[in-house]
Amino acid sequence: MSLRDLPSVERLLQRAAKLEATYGRPLTLEAIRDRLDAAREAIREGHPPPQEDILIEEAHKTLDHWLAPTLQPVINATGVIIHTNLGRAPLCRAARQAMIDVAEGYSTLEYNLKRGVRGKREDHAEGLLTRLTGGEAAFVVNNNAAAVLLALTSMARRKDVIVSRSQLIEIGGGFRIPDIMKQSGAKLIEVGTTNRTHLQDYEDAIHERTGLILRVHHSNFRIIGFTTEPALGELVDLGKRYDIPVLDDLGSGALIDTAQFGLGHEPMVQESLGAGASLVAFSGDKLLGGPQAGILIGKKPFVDRLRRHPLSRAVRPDKLCLAALVATLRHYLRDDAVHEIPIWQMIAAPLDQLQKRSEAWAERLGQGEVIPGQSTVGGGSLPEETLPSSLLALSVRYPNAFTAHLRGSDPPIIARIEDDRVVLDPRTVLVEQEEELLRALEGLL
Ligand SMILES: *Cc1c(COP(=O)(O)O)cnc(C)c1O
Repeated sequence: MSLRDLPSVERLLQRAAKLEATYGRPLTLEAIRDRLDAAREAIREGHPPPQEDILIEEAHKTLDHWLAPTLQPVINATGVIIHTNLGRAPLCRAARQAMIDVAEGYSTLEYNLKRGVRGKREDHAEGLLTRLTGGEAAFVVNNNAAAVLLALTSMARRKDVIVSRSQLIEIGGGFRIPDIMKQSGAKLIEVGTTNRTHLQDYEDAIHERTGLILRVHHSNFRIIGFTTEPALGELVDLGKRYDIPVLDDLGSGALIDTAQFGLGHEPMVQESLGAGASLVAFSGDKLLGGPQAGILIGKKPFVDRLRRHPLSRAVRPDKLCLAALVATLRHYLRDDAVHEIPIWQMIAAPLDQLQKRSEAWAERLGQGEVIPGQSTVGGGSLPEETLPSSLLALSVRYPNAFTAHLRGSDPPIIARIEDDRVVLDPRTVLVEQEEELLRALEGLL
């Protein structure tokens, strides 16, 4: 066996005209070279030279592999509604359409149609946000981590920021309050203890370098037992006495009361503004159910400072985000958010409706058992809280292998394993994905 038995690059390229037509010449060439290198290596190790057909087939596989999208739609059968690993909130129809509309051509992103002059991208969402929440002014950035960073930087750079020890949280993806504080150039002043912080602790920490009182929503954990924290209104009153602003990082920031769906009460944006917070920060893609964004609402002088800060340019939202956000906010203003926004549809889905779906799945598949189970809201909101659901449980011999096969379907299906059974929760499966889900299951069972 010798290396000379291998075909030349030119010969393979000639035979791979189809690949070249699909993938373009440079990439096809690179894939062929890649496969020939591997073949040479194999020959040196004593293997026979591969046939031309095999080499071309391998080049095809290599090309597919290089171009396969890693960001792709999946079916979420986990029952975790705001699943951070699965892209958080699915967008409502109006938001999807609005994104397509501005993506397809030019738009009024920074253009004032009436006057024919330059406009401001800030104007698109601000009016809707203030009308909805009662805030004086609003500013949108790329995500809530950026919102908190910008607020801290513009309000408290080179100053002290007082935070309760119970609120020095880490949320997924390495966002830690002490780290973000460092980045902003503000100095963290921890007060109180893990379980108990009193108003007096805040007051004792105030001195001439104090620039801000920060309250952070615990988000993804809960402290229970012997605990206390001052209410936001108390922090605002304290701040007023010493002329210190209060920033409330709400995380999820609901505009609708979650308690009406049998859940705990998630802090609402309107409540924080009503309590007098100088600025409130929250995410666009958690309980708002919109695109990834960070939203800051509050008193005009502080919002104006955000706008003017040089960092605001580095964290500004793009046109697709703004289009989707505005379309999502309109549903809240029209009071049909619960019917139109997917995460609220899922939260509000009645148990009997979920049960009908899981029973229909079991019937169609001719196997599996419908069992009671729990869905969760996720997205750093309502930890430990669940919504009663109706699950399809499949007893299969190798549950881990089965879920791996589900992940390998097209589109991939993400399911849970509970008590050695594979369980699928209809709450987070979009109705239009049901057929694909069932077909994949039929193929595997
Ligand atoms: C989720 C969260 C953030 C970060 O928001 P992103 O939109 O993910 O950037 C910040 N603070 C709190 C309290 C959160 O829960």
